[in-house]
Amino acid sequence: MGPIALKGGLGTVAVVLVISLLTGTNPLVLLEQMQGQSGQVTTEEQGNYQASPEEEELSQFVRTVLADTEDVWHDLLKDYREPTLVMFTGAVQSACGNASASTGPFYCSEDEKVYIDLSFYEELKSRFEAPGDFAQAYVIAHEVGHHVQHLMGITDKVHASRERMSEEEFNKLSVKLELQADFFAGVWANHANEMSKIIQAGDIDEALNAASAIGDDRIQQQTQGQVVPDSFTHGTSEQRMRWFKKGYETGDISQGDTFNARAL
Ligand SMILES: [Zn+2]
Repeated sequence: MGPIALKGGLGTVAVVLVISLLTGTNPLVLLEQMQGQSGQVTTEEQGNYQASPEEEELSQFVRTVLADTEDVWHDLLKDYREPTLVMFTGAVQSACGNASASTGPFYCSEDEKVYIDLSFYEELKSRFEAPGDFAQAYVIAHEVGHHVQHLMGITDKVHASRERMSEEEFNKLSVKLELQADFFAGVWANHANEMSKIIQAGDIDEALNAASAIGDDRIQQQTQGQVVPDSFTHGTSEQRMRWFKKGYETGDISQGDTFNARAL
């Protein structure tokens, strides 16, 4: 299972992501470092925030899914380095900039942390009409997919090429990056199900529904701090569903080279 080769296709571009800067007051930040074996979790809390019972339940769920992704990716990638999970409400600071809850979930390659905004899940249910545990799991698996891209050196290649590209070209590249993260989420679903039969009837539909409904880390960020709505950079609903499904059906990371695919 070698890394995905990136030949050509990365000629130019730039993008980057964005984040709205909100100065949150007293945010809840749970910094959770999964250490070694799944299930061992160290939690740091910043501030005096009292999590609600719903938030406690949700954060337990998020930790469980993250542990599942670690089982799978350790299996698929030699020397897999686990990301740190940060759950927050309100606002949070990352090495990629400040984020507010309106940012949605995101991954920051600078600090190798997956940022999950707990309030996003309510939005997923109500605003995006994508309810269900597996829809939530898909969101986490997609962000972990970005971490995998970072470990494979793909993220750096994309970012390094942005200076040579027009914004339009870079957006196309960004779409490929997002679709590949969807693909990796599908690969995770395939292997997680093989390991522990986690998938029940309707689960894949939930994930596909979420994939089509949301623009993932709806805003990503970049070091420049310029805000770019990610609706331009995530691919169509159909594309997102197709790549997730391809990952789920093949379970084979070598099938996920969105950068050289003839059609997305
Ligand atoms: Zn994404």
